[in-house]
Amino acid sequence: TSFGFKTIPAHEKESMVKNVFDSVASNYDLMNDAMSLGVHRLWKDEFVSSLKPGRRGPMRCIDVAGGTGDIALRLLDFAREKYADRETSVEVVDINAQMLKEGHRRFKQTMYHNTPQVSFHEANAQELPVEKFIDNSYDLYTIAFGIRNCTSIPDVLKEAYRVLKPGATFACLEFNKVTNPLLGPIYDQYSFSVIPLLGTLLTGDRASYQYLVESIRKFPSQPEFAQMIRDAGFVTGKDIDGAAWNNLWGGVACIHTGVKV
Ligand code: SAM
Repeated sequence: TSFGFKTIPAHEKESMVKNVFDSVASNYDLMNDAMSLGVHRLWKDEFVSSLKPGRRGPMRCIDVAGGTGDIALRLLDFAREKYADRETSVEVVDINAQMLKEGHRRFKQTMYHNTPQVSFHEANAQELPVEKFIDNSYDLYTIAFGIRNCTSIPDVLKEAYRVLKPGATFACLEFNKVTNPLLGPIYDQYSFSVIPLLGTLLTGDRASYQYLVESIRKFPSQPEFAQMIRDAGFVTGKDIDGAAWNNLWGGVACIHTGVKV
């Protein structure tokens, strides 16, 4: 490609993804702040507040590719602070045990520790074990900055559809295509040079960060991804701006939602 990346086959992709997150687990939150200049926090806040967890009573949530629990913590805080809800719960699912361990450690410092409100589970988003993650059992499925790391997006969506209750919401926060012509080149420059450089400086692992940038570039455009969500059986475009997605920062990040029918 013009950026000098070679295409990574699916089987290599999985081990590469594991390496990236193994190498960053303990510094993951710091890395996120460094690379996005703290903006990921604003996006996550926006993501969670747009979902209004707890508004219609306690919810059973599953946060897939949940990593260190950033989304889970926000879901629980939002429900408690806005609706005095202490019954909403989140199951954090991730393929990487190191990330989960870090999440567990972090939750120890919160009021949710040792309560039924939060739990951590090691599993692959593409094949959630059916005996543990039962059909039609969740009110909300979230996945933030995770789906692009999975080898098969349709498999992830299929599983999301399976575990959600009819009428329940799938919500994805992900880097997407920058549609703003002024922002595009700046963003490309930033992601193709600054992110791998920061990755190298902070973890000594440039290849993994190049992979991360490549995964963002290869991710489907907003309309393509919305179509994949519909192909999995969801209805899109109900709540947000009359569209199936809501761009943040001109499409640097984007929220997609779908409702199981
Ligand atoms: N959602 C968290 C956040 O927003 O801070 C973590 C995002 S992190 C960029 C991506 C996470 O996806 C990592 O923790 C990684 O282990 C996880 N992941 C990658 N492939 C996965 C898969 N197939 N199934 C479940 N989790 C996966």
